Amino acid sequence: MTSNLLETIPEDWNRALAIVAHPDDMETGAASAVARWTAHGKEVGYVLMTRGEAGIDGLSPEEAGPIREEEERNSARVVGVKRVDFLGYTDGVIEYNLGLRRDLARQIRADRPELIITLSHHLTWPGGPLNMADHRWLTLGILDAARDAANRWIFPELIEEGLEPWTGVRMVLLSGSPAATHAVDTTDFLSKGISSLQEHKIYNENLAGGFDPVQFLTDMAEKAGKQSGFRYAASFEVISI
Ligand SMILES: [Zn+2]
Repeated sequence: MTSNLLETIPEDWNRALAIVAHPDDMETGAASAVARWTAHGKEVGYVLMTRGEAGIDGLSPEEAGPIREEEERNSARVVGVKRVDFLGYTDGVIEYNLGLRRDLARQIRADRPELIITLSHHLTWPGGPLNMADHRWLTLGILDAARDAANRWIFPELIEEGLEPWTGVRMVLLSGSPAATHAVDTTDFLSKGISSLQEHKIYNENLAGGFDPVQFLTDMAEKAGKQSGFRYAASFEVISI
């Protein structure tokens, strides 16, 4: 039986950087793990590519952007994340290209993380629904940029900016993957993860069909827990760099 369980993510590291497309991307599964890690003294920063300004049908991007940025900053604070940076990409139209890889390599060299956390690049979520283009392209960009960050001959303009290569990224963790390989014990931290998602108040209120953060995250954590031998867990597909 134990051979079928997800492996536990090693915790012999100090710095992680989450890079995601939208406010709420970290809160729909990964934030409980972040709460655990920051409680254990690890440093975790968040980089948001967009402000999620295209995420609320009834609010224009000009109205929604500042609201969602504020909600994300509050969410991050709940799980012990002190640094939240927004890169100003346009919500919904992130493309995989060299400019994206350069921007990501710049962030990785500046921050020097050992772990990077993002969402799955797979076409579909577990259970079948279509994943979003922003997530898919961003994650491919992150995986490639984690290598670019280590090579001084790729994007030499970053050297001119004073950013030396960073070879320390060990793995990229993909939340929401249908091919999860690893898990984190979040038994004592699920409540923080739920509080973090609940900070997206206006966004959650505007989701169709009455979204319940408690039910959503508890179900997910129970399922991952069954796959990993914990009461509650967060699961990830782990890609070694
Ligand atoms: Zn998203």
